[in-house]
Amino acid sequence: MERSEKLLELSRVEMVETLRQYGIENRKVLDAFLQVKRHLFFEGDTIDFAYNDCAYPIGFGQTISQPYTVAYMTTLLLERVPSGKVLEIGTGSGYQAAILDALGYSVYTIERIPELKEKAEDIFLRLGLDISCSLRDGTLGWPEEAPFDGIIVTAGAPKEPGPLLGQLAENGCMVIPLGSHDSQQMTVIRRHGDIYGREAFHHFVFVPLVGKEGWDSTVF
Ligand code: SAM
Repeated sequence: MERSEKLLELSRVEMVETLRQYGIENRKVLDAFLQVKRHLFFEGDTIDFAYNDCAYPIGFGQTISQPYTVAYMTTLLLERVPSGKVLEIGTGSGYQAAILDALGYSVYTIERIPELKEKAEDIFLRLGLDISCSLRDGTLGWPEEAPFDGIIVTAGAPKEPGPLLGQLAENGCMVIPLGSHDSQQMTVIRRHGDIYGREAFHHFVFVPLVGKEGWDSTVF
């Protein structure tokens, strides 16, 4: 049965209240989560799961990240880089990119799976979002568009991809989950000239960042 817009809006408000209870306090971030309709990134009956605070499969072994995780990463970025040009690695459903767009960033996003990139681009078009999407290995970044004030990596990396560090603007920040397959520590890396400062935060579990500067693509 199709859910009414009103019911979906109530569910969205409840999701944002859950995020607040879990410690997401930034008003701009919470407002972006109220503004962006997460159910538009789901298909058919799966929209029933859109406002649960859970990751959800989007095909090809990938997931749309849990709302809390998206909010956590977005807050880390917004508190350090309030505006400018942001590169997301791992478009997936397109939801994180839409949240960044709602916050006023100029958004560039990279996906390695053609079907996911096409689907996300269709949604951006339908919603009238001016988000640039590219199909390539995100561990190598998007050198033609660099430098970026912010980079947000939405897949778990075994190490910091060197090309991404080099594509950060002066004072720019990268938010990236770093660690093993089983667990990654959310890390913020800030560029000051040739010096890169690091801060470490909570642990999460992401699908792997696969590519030349990530996990081996013959394994995943
Ligand atoms: N940000 C997404 C969203 O809002 O739905 C969720 C991202 S999902 C957890 C991780 C995504 O990273 C997957 O779509 C996966 O295909 C993509 N990915 C993994 N390695 C990549 C790479 N080297 N370049 C680009 N995308 C990559």
